[in-house]
Amino acid sequence: MHGNEPCGAEAVRRIARAFENRDLAPAKGTIFLIHANPEATSQGRRHTPGGEDLNRVWDFEFAETLREEAWGYEHHRALELKEVLGGLDVFLDLHSAGTATPAFGVSNGEAQIDEIAKQIGIAYLVQSWYGLADKVIIGFLKTAGIPALSVECGAHDDQEISETAQRIAMNFLRVTGAVDDGHPTNGSDVRTVHVVETITKPSEEFHFGAPWTGFQRLEPGALVGRDRITEIRTSRACYAVLPNADVEVGDDVIYLAVDS
Ligand SMILES: [Zn+2]
Repeated sequence: MHGNEPCGAEAVRRIARAFENRDLAPAKGTIFLIHANPEATSQGRRHTPGGEDLNRVWDFEFAETLREEAWGYEHHRALELKEVLGGLDVFLDLHSAGTATPAFGVSNGEAQIDEIAKQIGIAYLVQSWYGLADKVIIGFLKTAGIPALSVECGAHDDQEISETAQRIAMNFLRVTGAVDDGHPTNGSDVRTVHVVETITKPSEEFHFGAPWTGFQRLEPGALVGRDRITEIRTSRACYAVLPNADVEVGDDVIYLAVDS
C-alpha cells in the first residue's frame, strides 16, 4: 500500500513463494496476494511523486474532480484494484509506522472482522476510526459490506517487521479458513479502543511533550505537544496512536484513543 513500508510486500512475496513451492496449499476459496503499490515500493516512497497516497483515494472523488490527464499512478492503480476488491469475502492490508508501536489493527466493523482480528496476533484493535473512513481502503470496503482490517505491524525500521507481517497474514489465512496447515493461530489478549481525537501539526515549531511511542498511556493532563502559542494536553487518560512529529504542517501528527 505504501512504498516506504515494505513489510506487507515482503510478507506477500514469502507467502506466494510458499504456495509456489507447495509448502502451503489453499484449503478453500481463492486467495489474492496483492502488492498494492509496486511503483512506490521500487522508489521507497509512501506514494509516487506525481501520484497520491494510495490509502486516501478510495472515495474515488478524483474521478469527478480531477482530469484524467492529471491522474497519477495511484489513481489508476485504485481503479484497477477496485475490480478485484469488490468480489472479496474478507480483506487484510499491511502497514508499518514511523515510530515504534505494538502491532494493532483498524477494523471497518463489518460482520465478523473484529472476531477474526482478535485471533491473528495483534495487541490492540481500533474500532470506528470515522475521520479517515471514507478515503481509506477499508472504508471503501465497508460501503461494499466487505469485512476488512488494516494492520500496522510495527515501526518501518524494526528488524523483525517482515516476520511480524508474515505471521499476521498467515494467521489471517488460517482464521478465515483459507489455509489449514495445522498450525495454531496466536490469538492473544487484544485490547479494543476507539480513536477519539485527531491532532494535526499546527506549525513547524510543534514538538511532542515526550517522545511518544504507539499505545503509550497518557495520563490526564499529560502534555501531548506544544509550539510557541498552542499547548495540547489530555483531559482524560488515553493512548497515543501513530505518533509522528515528522509530518507536514496540517497533517496528522498523533491520534488519541480510549478504551472501548
Ligand atoms: Zn501505511
